[in-house]
Amino acid sequence: MTQKLFWLDPYQTSLDTTVTSVDGPRISVASTIFYAFSGGQESDHGSIADYAVLEARKDGLEIYYSLPAGHTLRPGQPVHMEIDWTRRYRLMRLHFAAELVLELFYKSHPAADKVGAHIAQDKARIDFAWPESIAPLLPGFNDEANRMIAADLAIKSAFDDEPNERRYWEIEGFARVPCGGTHIRRTAEIGPLRLKRDNIGRGKERVEIYLLSLA
Ligand SMILES: [Zn+2]
Repeated sequence: MTQKLFWLDPYQTSLDTTVTSVDGPRISVASTIFYAFSGGQESDHGSIADYAVLEARKDGLEIYYSLPAGHTLRPGQPVHMEIDWTRRYRLMRLHFAAELVLELFYKSHPAADKVGAHIAQDKARIDFAWPESIAPLLPGFNDEANRMIAADLAIKSAFDDEPNERRYWEIEGFARVPCGGTHIRRTAEIGPLRLKRDNIGRGKERVEIYLLSLA
């Protein structure tokens, strides 16, 4: 089983590890900092032994990385792994922005029905089954989220159930939420955000989240 170091230290950008299996273009490694698409958070970009990783895929609790055909890696081989930190950090900030906004929705509308979510490098989105325009709610949530960000609250991330790799994040006095994504340590890392409504039809409303500071 790959040891998932992106949970122990989500700020680590390079790692020396060892290849544990090779199946054509697909390999696994002893330990990894390279997140694979899960819970709506996109995979990292990066390299293993200078080969670009074409796809990172979670399969049960294992993660497999697809490399270009013709790579020469063998099981037991030491390799250096790097991730695109600019991309990862943007994903982490937008992911947590989405976590905050979703919790604000649930607190004021406990029956809110989330039907989708996606975290990309330029924006995050949350879709709700919602019978009317969600627009009137957004200024209040936008202000409240920015207040929590400015307050620079500590975010705890830990295992609920380590053998099954179930994790949560918690802001004391606000929420404790199950999630296996990579989380920032403090809310101020997000920087100010802006919410925007998109009407996607069929009784669904989309909330888009943008970071005002893209650094
Ligand atoms: Zn999360």
